Amino acid sequence: MSEYPLNQLSKPLRVWAQIDLTALKHNLQSLKQKSGLAAVMAVIKADAYGHGLAAVAHCLESQQIDFFGVAHIAEAQALTKLAVKTRIYLLGATLPEERAQIVEHGWTPCICSLAEAEHLNSLAVSQKKQLKVHIAIDTGMGRGGFLPEQLKEVCIKLSALDALNYEGVASHFCSSDEDEAFTHLQIQLFNEAVGILENHFKREFRYRHLANTAGILDYNIPSCNLSRPGLGLYGIAVGLGKNTGNNRDLKPVMTLKSKITLIRELPKGTSLSYGRDYITPYKMQVATVGIGYGDGYPRAVNNNGKAQVFIEGQLCPVLGRVTMDQILVDVSAVPQAMIGSEVELFGPNLSVNQVSTWSNTIPWEIFTQITPRVTRIVH
Ligand SMILES: *Cc1c(COP(=O)(O)O)cnc(C)c1O
Repeated sequence: MSEYPLNQLSKPLRVWAQIDLTALKHNLQSLKQKSGLAAVMAVIKADAYGHGLAAVAHCLESQQIDFFGVAHIAEAQALTKLAVKTRIYLLGATLPEERAQIVEHGWTPCICSLAEAEHLNSLAVSQKKQLKVHIAIDTGMGRGGFLPEQLKEVCIKLSALDALNYEGVASHFCSSDEDEAFTHLQIQLFNEAVGILENHFKREFRYRHLANTAGILDYNIPSCNLSRPGLGLYGIAVGLGKNTGNNRDLKPVMTLKSKITLIRELPKGTSLSYGRDYITPYKMQVATVGIGYGDGYPRAVNNNGKAQVFIEGQLCPVLGRVTMDQILVDVSAVPQAMIGSEVELFGPNLSVNQVSTWSNTIPWEIFTQITPRVTRIVH
């Protein structure tokens, strides 16, 4: 067992996130199997979705993956500092001032525009290097890449850039967890784009990739040979089929926990928390728990008064508004609850999907909002 990051240790802990690396490895294998694809890019942007970059990267590297997917060069630099050997892929458009470093380190960008390709090529020429790049196709996301109708013309220009090695073709699903018909259209557009490119370059691309977690879980994409799971690695199934048996196989990696700091019996008619949103309807055992939105537990979670937390084997209602450092919970039905009892905010007993629904957001946002005040404890 180790703790990350080391500079955030403060014992004893009152709020912490347990990171289960056995679950992480399990999820990787499960997603690999489900995708049916040979190669995998582990998406570890945003501090590995808030799970802690170092622990997650070292763990996944031991599992033989093909790429780490990151958002930008600050994350690539962090991985390089960790002496990670797995290739690093940049998931979005790069800034001109970032590119010299990309060429220098041999990180793999996806080419989102002709200007980007030309600039990278000239930098590679001046550094006397060949740079492996992937060509991004915009099949509906709109964040960058070439539109299918531009491809024939673009191919001719790309071919002239001698220092670029076009190793892959990529696109990105925009609604694979919401819209089946559009997702099938994206798959078809991607297949056609790969066809045009391979026809032009007279060879197959080593890597063809399109699927995020929902794409892996709900679709078969035989034209691809690399998948790009993010959220699924961390154990959360998303997509239209998320409640079907197959996806239950994923195990949550992060468990967010705190402790009861106080329990009081409060009479009927007592107002609780800011704005007095909640008035006790009868005599209640009210626990104060040492977590709040200052730790990233979403303030919106109890807007509809339905949020719950897991204490001593039972789900207990959150009462009133979430404050910066504390929440109030009804433990009347949990006689064993006491000061120091552990409280699970999400994890194996309470899905982050559920917490995100209560807060009217998505699990990706819940994870990435967990603040540095929360010590990550890695198992
Ligand atoms: C973030 C990201 C992913 C991972 O998406 P998940 O839904 O978390 O699996 C994959 N590809 C790209 C381009 C991304 O930006």
